[in-house]
Amino acid sequence: MVCGDGGVRRVHPILAAYVADYPEQCLVACAKSGTCPKCRRPAKDLQEKTTGEERTPLWTLGIIDDAKRTSSTRHQFFTKCMESDVAGGVGEPFWKGFPYCDIHLSLTPDVLHQLYQGVFKYILDWTGDMFNKEELDACVRTLPPAYGVRHFKNGISALSQVTGGERKDMARILLACLSGKLARPALVATRSILDFIYLAQYTTHNDTTLQYMKDALDTFHRHRKVFIDMGLRDDFNIPKFHALLHYIPSIKLFGTTDNYNTEMFERFHIDFAKDGWRASNRRDERPQMAQWLTRQEKVASFDRYLEYLVDQEEEKRHLQLSKVVQLTKLPSRPHQPITSIEDSHSCQGFTRALKEYLNTFLDRTENVSNYRLPFHHLDVFHSFKFKRDETGYTEVMESAGEREVVYARPSKGKQVARFDTVVVYVKNEVAESTGLEGTSYLA
Ligand SMILES: [Zn+2]
Repeated sequence: MVCGDGGVRRVHPILAAYVADYPEQCLVACAKSGTCPKCRRPAKDLQEKTTGEERTPLWTLGIIDDAKRTSSTRHQFFTKCMESDVAGGVGEPFWKGFPYCDIHLSLTPDVLHQLYQGVFKYILDWTGDMFNKEELDACVRTLPPAYGVRHFKNGISALSQVTGGERKDMARILLACLSGKLARPALVATRSILDFIYLAQYTTHNDTTLQYMKDALDTFHRHRKVFIDMGLRDDFNIPKFHALLHYIPSIKLFGTTDNYNTEMFERFHIDFAKDGWRASNRRDERPQMAQWLTRQEKVASFDRYLEYLVDQEEEKRHLQLSKVVQLTKLPSRPHQPITSIEDSHSCQGFTRALKEYLNTFLDRTENVSNYRLPFHHLDVFHSFKFKRDETGYTEVMESAGEREVVYARPSKGKQVARFDTVVVYVKNEVAESTGLEGTSYLA
């Protein structure tokens, strides 16, 4: 491999992390479906609030070898493995003989399938049943449109084939719709699961933030009984809920969950495999694809370098905001009197705020009340877009549609006014802040 310093070295990779969904996890770890592929908690005890004794490759291979030795038929082998919660279909796991590889330890958390398409989907079903699906839909439909929030105009219960993106959109609004409608324990259980889902996606962690995750999970465990009391569940022996117990140790071992997110690899499959294949002449394609990838990487790193230079230049000139915000070529309302803007936008302090803002461009600052603006009219834009950027807007941006547009639009005829509020993370944000701490507003 060519290393960062330009040297070419022989490299022996170690299988350390394996990213897969639950059926594949069970398959590669030789775990019986319905049990935990990482620990030995049997299916009927998955609701315990701690993990079981670890599965180890030695233990798994021991069960398989034992079953082989004492069985004369394939059926017997299968049954013996399954009795010990080991899958009976594999006699020779592919990782057998890999040095330094612990297949069970290497299975990583999976935000998309375990959290959004798993745990959150259960919570959504249960709270919907508790509350009344039609009423929940009515709440969802009547939410006012807002930046970054999808407006489900037909409610959410009738949607079939829900994508990961749609689940994320539902997670954003669920708690607000349930508030005041469900008994407190159900609300607390729902909130703590949502807390866990968001905390699990932090891109940096320390002991404090990992403790937040543990607290959220503990809170859920204390309140989840409400779903049983209401007759929605008999127990919590659900592999995806049990898997939450393995998140913190996995983050400590492998880093934050964005490092092994299945969505990212699905994306990579398109960029790296499909596009590379198309760029080849489809004969002896592997070396061509490898070369194509190498070139793409070089182009990308040169782009990053150019961006870095531009960024530095812009930072010097305080132009960061213009890089993020995009306006249409022509204003929605050209040349409007400032007094009428104050009126139609209900912003009485606008003139003063504008003076204060302009003042920041002067070398010496003046007392704003003493001077008059040298103009009386302004062009008004009713919306702007956020541009793609590395600082965290990406998630909202990627889900297409009008959501990336921020509105400040007065009412007109039958159309009601819409003034979005945007909460912005201040640069150099540390992960520890939760809720609205460390944010500023753009109204
Ligand atoms: Zn487990």
